Amino acid sequence: MKALRLHQVGELRLDEVTLPEPSPEETVVRVRYCALCRTDAKMWQKGQRDLVLPRVLGHEVSGIDLTSGREVVVWPGATCGSCSFCIQGSENLCPDIHIMGFNRDGGLAQAMVVPKESLIPVPAGVSLRLACLAEPLACCLNALHQIQTRPGDRILVFGAGPVGLLMGLAARSFSARAFVVEKEPARLEQSQVYLDRLGIPAGTQPSAKGFDAAINVCAATDTLFSGLRSTRAGGSFCLFSGLPHEDTITSDVVNEIHYRQLRVTGAYGCTRAQFHEALDIIRQHDRDIELLVEGEITLEEVTGHLPRIADGQALKILVRIE
Ligand SMILES: [Zn+2]
Ligand SMILES: [Zn+2]
Repeated sequence: MKALRLHQVGELRLDEVTLPEPSPEETVVRVRYCALCRTDAKMWQKGQRDLVLPRVLGHEVSGIDLTSGREVVVWPGATCGSCSFCIQGSENLCPDIHIMGFNRDGGLAQAMVVPKESLIPVPAGVSLRLACLAEPLACCLNALHQIQTRPGDRILVFGAGPVGLLMGLAARSFSARAFVVEKEPARLEQSQVYLDRLGIPAGTQPSAKGFDAAINVCAATDTLFSGLRSTRAGGSFCLFSGLPHEDTITSDVVNEIHYRQLRVTGAYGCTRAQFHEALDIIRQHDRDIELLVEGEITLEEVTGHLPRIADGQALKILVRIE
């Protein structure tokens, strides 16, 4: 079968590979769609903490489970299933997790071997084309759960890339209201119809403070301080994106947390339960989410699109795999 493998940083090749035999706990998924993500582009450009090479990239996957014939999306983790995190429904924190497209082969291939436990059935009314976006949407839901979002909360979301835009939609499912902060007018123009349809305000950072929470869906370090300062006393900040290694955080940032009793949390990945929540949102908002899809490409065309994705200029690009 064909698989797009990253051999080393900057070297992505479409290889002919043999799919490994699945164990009794695993199954084979015939991939139909794999959405590209900025993380894929960054792995190609400079690697990533959890990346082990050579690797088939791709972690936003929908397809057909060849054992049951069902339409599925793939929760991109393979976990131990028995540690306290796995048992309590925080399986994204399992110390033995392998992440597909990072340190286990992912979905930019005609097929992939997946633990049966990582399959999530696609509900009626959701297309495989949009179902692959359950992964980024579930990651947004994870962030909103970490900051304990409540109805009526006002949330500042930094970054109007496709995931920041999904965060705005995810906030609505908590009956919370997001404001998406974006400095680049071109990015806002690209998504104006989506923002208008969902009634999500967006623009440069508002001078008003008192937000219940802020979430960085971009890696700019200054959003940490400006986000913390925009929240009310006792508010929250979620580090959804990691910050550049070369940046340092000064004590005035930490003291902002101290004096105003703020809560800072991280969010990395998502859980199976959040995948189910995400699929439900996709079912209700398929027409809105469709506005975030820039188009479909083939496996052969992926490399040519990665520079734009890395620069944050693209909306969601779906790789359609036959
Ligand atoms: Zn992703
Ligand atoms: Zn575990």
